[in-house]
Amino acid sequence: MIKNLINAPELPKINMVRGWVRTHRQSKSVSFFDLNDGTSIKGLQVVIAPETKGYQEVAAKITTGASVIVLGEMKDSPAKGQRYEFHASEVRLIGESDAENYPLQKKGHTLEFLREHLHLRPRSNTFGAIARIRSRAAFAVHQYFQDRDFYYLTSPIISTSDCEGAGAMFRVTTFDLDKVPLTSDKKVDYSKDFFGEEASLTVSGQLEGEAYATAISKIYTFGPTFRAENSNTTRHLAEFWMIEPEMAFYELKDNQELAQDFVLYLIKDVLKNCDEELRFLQEREWTSNDHIEVLQKVSESKFETVDYTEAIKILEKSKTSFEFPVSWGIDLQSEHERFLTDEHFKGPVTVINYPKEIKAFYMRLNEDEKTVRAMDVLVPRLGEIIGGSQREERFDVLLQKMKAQDLDPNKYSWYLDLRRFGTVPHSGFGLGFERFLMYVTGMQNIRDVIPFPRYPGSAK
Ligand code: ATP
Ligand code: MN
Repeated sequence: MIKNLINAPELPKINMVRGWVRTHRQSKSVSFFDLNDGTSIKGLQVVIAPETKGYQEVAAKITTGASVIVLGEMKDSPAKGQRYEFHASEVRLIGESDAENYPLQKKGHTLEFLREHLHLRPRSNTFGAIARIRSRAAFAVHQYFQDRDFYYLTSPIISTSDCEGAGAMFRVTTFDLDKVPLTSDKKVDYSKDFFGEEASLTVSGQLEGEAYATAISKIYTFGPTFRAENSNTTRHLAEFWMIEPEMAFYELKDNQELAQDFVLYLIKDVLKNCDEELRFLQEREWTSNDHIEVLQKVSESKFETVDYTEAIKILEKSKTSFEFPVSWGIDLQSEHERFLTDEHFKGPVTVINYPKEIKAFYMRLNEDEKTVRAMDVLVPRLGEIIGGSQREERFDVLLQKMKAQDLDPNKYSWYLDLRRFGTVPHSGFGLGFERFLMYVTGMQNIRDVIPFPRYPGSAK
């Protein structure tokens, strides 16, 4: 791969290179092209004499985007700018590129333009870099948990329980939509559908995660998650990836510590292994010009913790006029989160102990009976990247809370079983993988950190 060739400690002994041409400079005495295979920002300089075998015949077709195989050898480069270059003895054009119609020209494109060409944008330096960071971060997720006795759980993608109770789910059905079977009272008859009941794409693997955590102690899921929320924001996707660890015998404090340690580990890993990519994104000005420096500082820091009740007091005392008025009991809006992270704490902060009314039924009720052991990790410029909680392990309390939120206990009897048989305190959280990638890459739109973004009106 070109990344290994250009960074090799010693002159690599190879006789062939292949990839796509970025630029081609022809002259009478010698020609050059910049060959890239997507493994690094910098390409390999290929040097060709006019009489090189195969060159004259195809020279005009070696244009931006064309694919080639070049035979020859690596030599130390006399010029500044690269350590080695590849001297061609034969050039083979593999795939021509219709230069006039190739959407990616040498000049930098806007992200909006590149979003219109989802299949070609990975060939740009920006999206090549993001793809490599994403891959590395995914590896680091597994490494982090595998090194700490967590087992990887693949929770189901098709689900019959709505974990968040939010109702924003994509239905899974094999019904012919023109002829949907109805019951005698004219409701959709799901008993005739493929699964014999209403099924959807999962919004979270948490409930299934709990079944495994209360059996094999510590698990994590890492898979796709689907939400049909019609929120056309720069932070929401209809299909995104979530990492959900779930741990038996963990209380909220342990959960918070794990969340912080995990996020800092991921940041450090990316800083260490994706330096070239991060530098490129910063130089390309997709990020703030101190992005890497800020990440480095955060990676050595501790997250602040604040009680929801205290956070509300901070917001009420602030001189900022918020669009959404602040009072105890509200769900924190993005402007409130930003105030806490960007203005008040000036760094990541974990907000804990939210009012029970605005959080899911499975969160553990506190002694005050007004708040639950929830935690949201908020980061500057972005807001929430993690939502989690200690789970309600007491059978009676859980049943009460389900009824209070109008959930049918019969549908959740398997979930209640986890409290019937050997219940234990347990906790977990969900990190939105793309939210994390936004934070670490500094990209401002979530649609740019996933290869093929799905959002309202678009599933190209
Ligand atoms: P938000 O308030 O930002 O919509 P949420 O409270 O709905 O988030 P949770 O249900 O707690 O989020 O999900 C856990 C994590 O999944 C979030 O902290 C976030 O990182 C991520 N997440 C949630 N919804 C989306 C989405 N639509 N697209 C991308 N990531 C998401
Ligand atoms: Mn949401």
